[in-house]
Amino acid sequence: MAAERFKIRAIGNLESGRQMMSGNEFELEVARNVNEERLWERLMRLARIGESESGGVSRLALSNEETCARHLLIQWGAELGLTIYTDDISNLFFRLDGADPQAPPVMSGSHIDTQPNGGKFDGAFGVVAAFEVLQAIRESGHATFRSVEAVVWLNEEGSRFAPGMMGSDVFTGRRNLVDCLPVRDAEGISVAAALEETQKSFRSVPRRPFGFPVSSFIEAHIEQGPRLEAANLSVGVVTGIQGSRRFRVRVTGEQAHAGTAAMVSRKDALFSATSMIQAMRRKLLAGQLDLKFTVGLFEIYPNAPSVVPSSAYFSVDVRHPDDAVLEDAGNLVRELCESNRGSCAVEVDEIAVSRSLEFPQEMQQCIRSCAELLGIPSMPIYSLAGHDARQLHYHCSTGMIFTPCHAGISHSDQESCLAGDLTLATRVLAASVSNLANRRSSWTSTRSNRNTRVQTSAIRWLFETFAWCIRMSRAPDPYMP
Ligand SMILES: [Zn+2]
Repeated sequence: MAAERFKIRAIGNLESGRQMMSGNEFELEVARNVNEERLWERLMRLARIGESESGGVSRLALSNEETCARHLLIQWGAELGLTIYTDDISNLFFRLDGADPQAPPVMSGSHIDTQPNGGKFDGAFGVVAAFEVLQAIRESGHATFRSVEAVVWLNEEGSRFAPGMMGSDVFTGRRNLVDCLPVRDAEGISVAAALEETQKSFRSVPRRPFGFPVSSFIEAHIEQGPRLEAANLSVGVVTGIQGSRRFRVRVTGEQAHAGTAAMVSRKDALFSATSMIQAMRRKLLAGQLDLKFTVGLFEIYPNAPSVVPSSAYFSVDVRHPDDAVLEDAGNLVRELCESNRGSCAVEVDEIAVSRSLEFPQEMQQCIRSCAELLGIPSMPIYSLAGHDARQLHYHCSTGMIFTPCHAGISHSDQESCLAGDLTLATRVLAASVSNLANRRSSWTSTRSNRNTRVQTSAIRWLFETFAWCIRMSRAPDPYMP
């Protein structure tokens, strides 16, 4: 399969692109400057920070490992002569000035936090690819009209502090910083304390305000699914992202002796919790092939072999591309927990809602045309995973580029990618960013559509934030405020 794709790589030679189209010399030159060896070397260098014995990476948000990774990126940024900024939630920005420094910049980037024993490429690829694009532009010897920035969003994964997308959420105003600060990890450490610790190391890096104008954002990311590999393609133009609803469920029973407590009078929190999960699995998945249902976190107390558990705590993650289906499925979560609680009490809190979205056609077209210009075959692809691009979509024109990972395996130490794929995707990113950075005006043709969508989103966001505040005010939860 790899060999097949490298045939395509041979098709994607830049000289044929040059002959096919004129007037895009700059995009072609920047794409040509993308260096496979450098890209791979940087990725492997980053992967050594937090590497596990099995070849995975544990680099949780605001951990010591993540701080080391930040130092490395800052070192690369300084070597490239980039201007480096951070902000109050420790997003990191690396800026290459354009001819008009006042014009809103074009941004690209992703995240450097990982799942526990996660992969080398999830997030890291988007960050390293953005660095490669800045270096490729710099090596062209030409300035773009707009400044170009590589960005690292804080805590995309949410594995330490839930929910994720924290940096991009706060930057785009979808959450307030003050709401994030009390969120605690499993050890009881708050975001506020962890941020303070991280920020100690970066006092000299100037801070910027949240939400400054951005002309456009493109995130390069591994697909985390098997479709590109199956199609023998190195590049996917992402059309949109499926919606998700995330819950935390707490079941409260009664602690008792495993030998002496009569079965009929027990309030076994584990049995109630597993009944709820099995009921959700049966009902939610019935006839819904595209629905994804996951219980990834499960804890019981006191978790002792001779004790009837007095409480259980678990997560529910439901995803579907169709908002109506997602709405119904999410509503069933609450209903089924209640109807299967047995003799125990149950509390269901919805901690995050993300509707499905479609990226602007103009952005998809820009990426597709750049791939064509470079002679790199691509296909449209829908994202089944959430990304920071979801948040940026509500702030500026946004798009995504996917590249395959082997067998679609991600959030795992088995995550693996081919340098050739990553290079081709970075070339398409380089050409797209170069193209966007030389556009004097932002999108105009769909401005009114976008405004309507932004207004609708803003109303929905206000409503969701209000509901969120109410939930947060009554959530005694080690992971949440
Ligand atoms: Zn990611």
